[in-house]
Amino acid sequence: MSAGAAFIPPGATLGVLGGGQLGRMFAQAAQSAGYGVVVLEADEAAPAAQVTGRHLAARYDDPLALDQLARDCAAVTVEFENIPAASMQWLDARVPLAPAPGALALCQDRAQEKALFKRLGVPCAPHAVLTAGVDPHAVSADLFPGILKTTRLGYDGKGQMSVACAADLPAAWATLGGVDCVLEKKLDLAYELSVVMARGRDGCAVLYEPQQNLHRDGILFASFSPGPSITPDLAEAAQNAAGTVAQGLDYVGVLCVEFFVLRDGRLLANEIAPRPHNSGHHTLDSCDVSQFELQWRTLVNAPLLAPRQHSATVMLNLLGDLWFDAAGQQREPDWATVLAQSGVHLHLYGKHAPRKSRKMGHLTCTAANPTEARQNALHVCTVLGLEPF
Ligand code: ADP
Ligand code: MG
Repeated sequence: MSAGAAFIPPGATLGVLGGGQLGRMFAQAAQSAGYGVVVLEADEAAPAAQVTGRHLAARYDDPLALDQLARDCAAVTVEFENIPAASMQWLDARVPLAPAPGALALCQDRAQEKALFKRLGVPCAPHAVLTAGVDPHAVSADLFPGILKTTRLGYDGKGQMSVACAADLPAAWATLGGVDCVLEKKLDLAYELSVVMARGRDGCAVLYEPQQNLHRDGILFASFSPGPSITPDLAEAAQNAAGTVAQGLDYVGVLCVEFFVLRDGRLLANEIAPRPHNSGHHTLDSCDVSQFELQWRTLVNAPLLAPRQHSATVMLNLLGDLWFDAAGQQREPDWATVLAQSGVHLHLYGKHAPRKSRKMGHLTCTAANPTEARQNALHVCTVLGLEPF
């Protein structure tokens, strides 16, 4: 639908597809400005469903629920990329929707993301696309050792396998179910960074400074803002590349582009998240405008104001592992001690069943300077039993 850019004032109802923590934090931000929020999510106890006034407990392709959402909402957004394309198209014909179905569909697929990077002249990892009919024995030897990734539905390192050499590729592909995959060369990473930005219907964009990201076992462990290793030149290059991607997609909404920085200094785009991103959670506490505020602002056609970062911060993810002691017995982390430390902001998502690797919450350590933020975060690691970074 070619929605006009008329401002949708507070009091209106906004819809979100997906009920996880990203939907929850979007809802909380929109509610604080006086918007009503409806979440479409099958899970009755989902994090976002706990905080929204209205919850449509249904699948993302449920026609009645989609119809209700379109009728009740002044605009609709998504909290994650794996919403069925048909649902997006159906909604797009009936209600202002951001991001657009085409942009979302592209970001569901690693092969399409890489094709976009190539088309836009944004460097990315050397790779090959494996689809039915492709001979895995014909893949270039230069791509080994590599990482095989399913083109769709991967997250937090899931749907990925290391492949040491060409001979191991057919078996690895079979292990991933023989679905469409991308084989990427395993790169010698110095570190990772990401850029979160928002772009409005008028094409105006605002960007945060890049944050430096530390992953463990393929899952984000910590984000540092400012990033200790990020030079001004790299920051500018990453912001320019993210801006190019957003413009190339004619994107509306909040977007994150993840990057690798190689030991030889090169910057390569990794993947695009068509939504607020885990690495941008620090903006809730370190900036005057959070990524979730930018999400509702893009949705209601409010001006996008350049965010101002007022605190240095380290964000630590709180995975379900923290809820178990060494013997595997369930326990509650020592929040009282964590909360006794100044500058610590705790965010728990209301997930009732802790599981290993499950994102249960995050916390930020804000301070007047990066050194202090880092020290505070290291102290939190000690209290919680997290391996220091
Ligand atoms: P996900 O969707 O799970 O976030 P990513 O492609 O971002 O998938 O991979 C998760 C993490 O695995 C990355 O952040 C990085 O730490 C590591 N990784 C992924 N691809 C490569 C690569 N080609 N070379 C080296 N490390 C990689
Ligand atoms: Mg990633």
